[in-house]
Amino acid sequence: MLIDYHTHHERCGHAVGKLEEYVQRGIALGLQQLGLSDHLPLIHVDPEQYYPEMAMPLAELPYYVEECLTLKERYRGTIELRVGLEADYIEGYEEQIRELLAPYPWDYLIGSVHFLGEWDITDHRQTQGWEGQDVMSVYRRYYDAVQKSALSGLYDIIGHMDVIKRFGYGPQTPEDTAEVRMLELETLKVIAGSGIAMELNASGLTKPCAEMFPAEHVIAQALALGIPLTVGSDAHDPMKLGDGLTEARQLLWHTGFRELAVFEGRRRTLVPFEI
Ligand SMILES: [Zn+2]
Ligand SMILES: [Zn+2]
Repeated sequence: MLIDYHTHHERCGHAVGKLEEYVQRGIALGLQQLGLSDHLPLIHVDPEQYYPEMAMPLAELPYYVEECLTLKERYRGTIELRVGLEADYIEGYEEQIRELLAPYPWDYLIGSVHFLGEWDITDHRQTQGWEGQDVMSVYRRYYDAVQKSALSGLYDIIGHMDVIKRFGYGPQTPEDTAEVRMLELETLKVIAGSGIAMELNASGLTKPCAEMFPAEHVIAQALALGIPLTVGSDAHDPMKLGDGLTEARQLLWHTGFRELAVFEGRRRTLVPFEI
């Protein structure tokens, strides 16, 4: 089974291409399932005052879902489209997120921690946020938020679990490395306990950290804990759809995975994959 469960498009402001261009590219690549998963509109900062082009305007959300559903029907029999969203987990905003998501017939929802307060730790324009910070205390805050996202009941998939490493900020001593390993393992246990899946997000390969989200040792622990995995390219350009997913499937296969998690109507099933 060839799938890509993490994609964006022009509505978010920092991706290019219309939804249908991603669909066409998915067909050209021979994908059996393509998940559309653009960013949740910003809800905890004023979009007029914040960094521009972070996410689609709130008013666009119904049109996004409607277009996804129309394409799902139009391409039925050619490619299986799945209607999703990469819905930021923002601590303290759980009820607002729940209300925003409630009206729509999602196939799946990815819970991603991008924000620690108003700081988007994944935004290349905001890396100055690390200046003067104790890296380990940022890691502790980050993994605490990921654990809360898993426990929130809002999501089907934890997005890019160790994305905090994206810009290369990380532990500098053996003690700190050991603590990060412990934070990762604790978080995986919470995810396993919550019964939801995780993604292997290949986009980290092209970022300063130069490895996928999450790293190989985390994937191995996820397998041991029985956490199902799906895969996503996090493409922000139709021509980048599926990028890194051959490597992602190989990594999963060599770790011992033989099935991928797929979703419809928020019901998860496992399908075999090959490399
Ligand atoms: Zn994006
Ligand atoms: Zn993300």
